[in-house]
Amino acid sequence: MADRVAGPEIERLIQLLARLPGLGPRSARRAALHLMRKREDLLGPLADAMALARERIVTCSACGNIDTIDPCTICCDVRRDATTLVVVETVADLWALERAAVVRGRYHVLGGVLSPLDGVGPDDLNLAGLVDRVSGAGLSEIILAVNATVDGQTTAHYVTDLLAHLDLKVTRLAHGVPVGGELDYLDEGTLAAAMRSRTAF
Ligand code: ZN
Repeated sequence: MADRVAGPEIERLIQLLARLPGLGPRSARRAALHLMRKREDLLGPLADAMALARERIVTCSACGNIDTIDPCTICCDVRRDATTLVVVETVADLWALERAAVVRGRYHVLGGVLSPLDGVGPDDLNLAGLVDRVSGAGLSEIILAVNATVDGQTTAHYVTDLLAHLDLKVTRLAHGVPVGGELDYLDEGTLAAAMRSRTAF
């Protein structure tokens, strides 16, 4: 093992940074050095922001989003379309859809997908909460915005069956050619899905 180049406090900072998604040991060392060089401008404010976030963050008891208020900012927003509920796997997916700003409804975060291989069953997801929310809530459409993976689609079918007794329109995202994509580069599964999901021009 290589000799340590810094004291345990700095080593600890590097180790923790290395656990962030997208950062390995090398980029964690660079980030730690950068933070220490910018101690006043960056390290201090970042430490304060993290301490405050640790104190204040809560999971929304209605939708599963992460925020500093419960119900969350989205659930409290009265300008949103109360008749549309978008079901997503994770908070990251919710935030991605919000960035795209295409639906102004409310969300429901499942907290994962059904995955028999990984031992994730219906009880591990926020499905009971979904059924409670959907029953008699004046909704007209449930949009299943889950990933186009085998597990995502299994989950979409399960949710559709779960809500089948309610008179609701259940839709899912289209599968197919990405915007800016070229047919020649797509795999056969994507091309076949695009062909099946074709729409009138
Ligand atoms: Zn919420």
